[in-house]
Amino acid sequence: MAERIQLHDLHFKPYLSEAQIQARIRELGQEIAADYQDKKPLFIGILNGAFMFTADLARACHFDADFAFVRLKSYEGTSSSGEVITMIGLKAPVEGRYLILVEDIIDTGRTLHTFLPQLQAQNPASVRIAALLSKPEARVKPLEADYTGFEIPNKFVVGYGLDYNELGRNLPAIYQLED
Ligand code: 5GP
Ligand code: MG
Ligand code: MG
Repeated sequence: MAERIQLHDLHFKPYLSEAQIQARIRELGQEIAADYQDKKPLFIGILNGAFMFTADLARACHFDADFAFVRLKSYEGTSSSGEVITMIGLKAPVEGRYLILVEDIIDTGRTLHTFLPQLQAQNPASVRIAALLSKPEARVKPLEADYTGFEIPNKFVVGYGLDYNELGRNLPAIYQLED
């Protein structure tokens, strides 16, 4: 197993290995295929955190689909700022489309709680959520993903797209903040 790492001033221990993540993503691809095979869904990846998950999920979904990205921001350091800012908005038309939002992690739920109504206002055929990680104990807004990779405890994690002040996104595995 990989070793503990340091990013800036904090230490992290191995939590989900690259093999565990990739195996779970293959299962999610199969679940999503069963529901969307003939619907040509539009996956909307939420940058920056979901860039790696979106790319791997795309390769696990063996059916016609398109991909778009938005950039939303709510985190500063290791905690949610409570405010959601749209840094880059959606350019693709979504009316009548089957949308699948792709998130790295659902924490307080504020990001998607803010973003979902903005999408619903544009009359898509449907909107579902795929999240690699979920911290149910941290929820402030009632919100669940339709496809969840792993439910995890309320501890800060990094790697596989997730950063600590912009470090750690390129790690192929996920690490948890040490107590
Ligand atoms: P929300 O609180 O709105 O559900 O989460 C918004 C975003 O905060 C997530 O998409 C993710 O980018 C970031 N975030 C939430 N929990 C963590 C965490 O444990 N580690 C890191 N690096 N980012 C997180
Ligand atoms: Mg995110
Ligand atoms: Mg971040």
